Amino acid sequence: MKLFDVYPLYDVMPVRANGCYVYDEKGTEYLDVYGGHAVMSIGHGHPHYVKRLTEQLANIGFYSNAVQNPLQQQVADKLGKLSGCDTYELFFVSSGAEANENALKLASFATGKSKIVAFKNGFHGRTSATVAATDNASIVSPLNAQHEVAILKLGDLEALEKTLSNEDCCAVIVEFIQGVGGLDISTQEFYKEASTLCKKYNTKFIADEVQSGFGRSGDFFAFQKYGIEPDIITMAKGMGNGFPVGGILVHPSIKAKYGMLGTTFGGNHLACAATLAVLEVLEQENLMKNAREMEVRFRESAAKLNLKVKGRGLMLGLDLGFEVGELRKKLIYDHHIFTGGAKNKNVLRILPPLNIENEHFDTLFTALKKEL
Ligand code: PLP
Repeated sequence: MKLFDVYPLYDVMPVRANGCYVYDEKGTEYLDVYGGHAVMSIGHGHPHYVKRLTEQLANIGFYSNAVQNPLQQQVADKLGKLSGCDTYELFFVSSGAEANENALKLASFATGKSKIVAFKNGFHGRTSATVAATDNASIVSPLNAQHEVAILKLGDLEALEKTLSNEDCCAVIVEFIQGVGGLDISTQEFYKEASTLCKKYNTKFIADEVQSGFGRSGDFFAFQKYGIEPDIITMAKGMGNGFPVGGILVHPSIKAKYGMLGTTFGGNHLACAATLAVLEVLEQENLMKNAREMEVRFRESAAKLNLKVKGRGLMLGLDLGFEVGELRKKLIYDHHIFTGGAKNKNVLRILPPLNIENEHFDTLFTALKKEL
């Protein structure tokens, strides 16, 4: 049987990984400052993570959401405490798109409306409504295009109010630091006012923290820098450090009802163990502080090479002013460093494990200095 060929692949085959490094079948070491699209929050093979998951698997790996699973409440308690969002309520899913799909659905249930507002260069997933809300026509099928979506310029408050004032929008969905698009961030004024406009027009404000959440921005969630209170917060990627787990945090003003949402896999025992391990390591190793400190180090090194930095915390990009595709190949094949690209082809994306150290960035910048 052939694989359905949708991914262009680099000729690299990781078979083992540890911390910020992965190793191919010949034992060649690669520095991973990309974390497989921002997934590796606490690094590859963290001993606490491995122990928690293996112990959990030996006890019970899965049972459905029809029975008691106290691990889910343990995640909720720990997540509430570490994020400061303890008044919200947690619903588990298994991916970023599923988190956003459920957030949009919930917004529609709660408001009785159906139109979505999203922003240029945004990315929210590949499922029904999430891909319709994603600014990339080439991945939107005619089926997805049936959703009513307005894609506005990020930062355009006038257009936002004009759209919301039609009173037909269930949700505004936004990444506070754009990931796939290329690390653009709007202003404090825009985010605050967007949140106020949502309240005025009975529209739910959804913070897509799938990539920026779980400490990556240096705060637990990127929106927290702006002093706002979204109606729904979505999470995935770094939440499970490679185990497929996601979730939504729902403001208590939105009331749950039996059957309203559901999932087979979401919140299973292994998913909870992975999330608990991530939260425990984030706290014990003070990784949000490390993210803030390493951002400073990154900016200093970039400044020495006159490179333009975008993003925040350890959700960073270098806007190099030319298409970075060839450079990424050189970094992988000649320097053995994994980096990422973006929709903005001039941006090299850097999304390392949150426990990255100075020496790792030094290796990256030595390679960049040589190639640039
Ligand atoms: N939202 C954002 C901001 C993302 O960056 C992504 C994935 O890159 C998604 C949603 C979709 O997540 P997943 O690929 O887990 O479905």
